[in-house]
Amino acid sequence: MQTLNFPSPVESITFEGHSFFLKRDDFVHPDFSGNKARKFYYYLQNEFPNINKIVSNGSAQSNAMYSLSVLAKIKGWKFEYFVDHIADYLKEYPHGNYKAAVDNGMKITEQAGIVPDTFPKDVLFIEEGGRQKEAEYGVKLLAEEILQWKTENDMKVLNIFLPSGTGTTALFLQKHLHSDNVYTTPCVGDEKYLKRQFLELERDEYIHPVILSLEKKHHFGKLYKENYKIWLKLQQQTGVEFDLLYDPLGWRVLLEHPEVFTSPTLYIHQGGVLGNESMLPRYERKYKDIL
Ligand SMILES: *Cc1c(COP(=O)(O)O)cnc(C)c1O
Repeated sequence: MQTLNFPSPVESITFEGHSFFLKRDDFVHPDFSGNKARKFYYYLQNEFPNINKIVSNGSAQSNAMYSLSVLAKIKGWKFEYFVDHIADYLKEYPHGNYKAAVDNGMKITEQAGIVPDTFPKDVLFIEEGGRQKEAEYGVKLLAEEILQWKTENDMKVLNIFLPSGTGTTALFLQKHLHSDNVYTTPCVGDEKYLKRQFLELERDEYIHPVILSLEKKHHFGKLYKENYKIWLKLQQQTGVEFDLLYDPLGWRVLLEHPEVFTSPTLYIHQGGVLGNESMLPRYERKYKDIL
């Protein structure tokens, strides 16, 4: 395997008339990148002589699923993944994260409810979306890269923004960045859900990230015209392809909270662009007239 591109580069971008720094974690590696590479870095770096297989669960197009298939391939482990349901269309026309993970040897099973305690000893069980303590190892390195970059650029206060799913990345990032504020927004559930996720990983609320959100309720994976619009604008104005599930909401929330970018603001590109293969055609079909 080609080595990981650490530290990931930081670029300057302008969006909607504002300047931001962009941490390109999407450039970490062609296959093992984004925040999943950070969250699973612990497993990549350490030896697990008694493990033969990874088991996890979640949705059939998840970024975590794809990254785990890459990890399993590198490690020479089997990978079994459980989903509640696979859409017929996806079975018939495999694409995106699903196809890439199957090509990497993933065995996928439709089955609701799994009981991790019953798995044999040679199984490494990874929680949905990679929400676990071991993620701290790689996210801490991300925090150290940011601190190093700050020093090199004589930067005093920095505000950091990244959209959350399980909140694991945002939480561990804030834990290791003592003097900079980490801001995030819940993409998967609501603020209460995200707060609960933080509490499960870290009881000290003092080191939780700041949660921001939109006025209106937002449903994960639903196609919103506003999300598609901002994604297209980002592409036009910055030349960067962002992910279609988390980043559009992230940028909408950030632009609605200009108090964040009164200090130099670093947005973290957490990868996930392979998932656009399934999201983009859906957006294009639904909103073909907005261009
Ligand atoms: C997984 C993922 C997230 C969410 O990360 P959490 O650590 O679960 O909050 C955000 N953006 C992208 C692109 C992802 O793949």
